[in-house]
Amino acid sequence: MTNKEKFEKKLSEITHKLPAGSKLLIVSKTRPQSDIEIYYALGHRDFGENRVQELEEKALALKDKCPEIRWHMIGHLQSNKINALFKIPHLYAIHSVHDRDLLDQLIKAQGKLSSPVNIFLQYNTSKEAEKSGFETYTDLKMAANALIKNEKLNLAGVMTMGTLRTDHFEAEARRCFEELNVEKCKLEAEYGVRLETSMGMSQDYQIALEEKSNWIRLGTMMFT
Ligand SMILES: *Cc1c(COP(=O)(O)O)cnc(C)c1O
Repeated sequence: MTNKEKFEKKLSEITHKLPAGSKLLIVSKTRPQSDIEIYYALGHRDFGENRVQELEEKALALKDKCPEIRWHMIGHLQSNKINALFKIPHLYAIHSVHDRDLLDQLIKAQGKLSSPVNIFLQYNTSKEAEKSGFETYTDLKMAANALIKNEKLNLAGVMTMGTLRTDHFEAEARRCFEELNVEKCKLEAEYGVRLETSMGMSQDYQIALEEKSNWIRLGTMMFT
């Protein structure tokens, strides 16, 4: 099978499983540009990367070939990379705004954006030490408050990652996703806005879909 045939099959299988309101983000980190072009030619538009430099290289290389592409930054973001990130053509969303300091720096730099970008606040539902993200609802709420009424940064929703190291993988993933839904609903009520959730990866996306995730972020299973 060629990559095109393989990817066509994968895309069709997964899109048939998506309930209304759930969208697929293809995580193309470490994959060659040619793989992205194949998915783009099949009609897919949303791609995620976790490193600014790799995202920048791919976005520049594909700028003219894939004019409708939407890039999502999903990885840990360091504040010294904000200026480079904000210059990236077709930057659509940042899923990994993990603390208040980073958020304040993004807000300060937003004038450099040529068009608005969607922001997801990352919430640490697993409480694993190496995971980043806001830790309490109060911090999340204050961050959301700082984002509302910004010109170029749009409060789009909340993001989380399920617990990785656990003997109860499914139950833990569900607990994390349920918790994110609770926080999302509280924020929606607090500010009278509609928000989305970004949750679910190759290992736990089926549970995320049961929990009505708006964005599942799939890497491994889309390419292997
Ligand atoms: C790599 C990555 C994914 C995709 O993970 P897979 O297991 O390859 O599907 C999703 N979200 C984030 C934040 C990632 O870094």
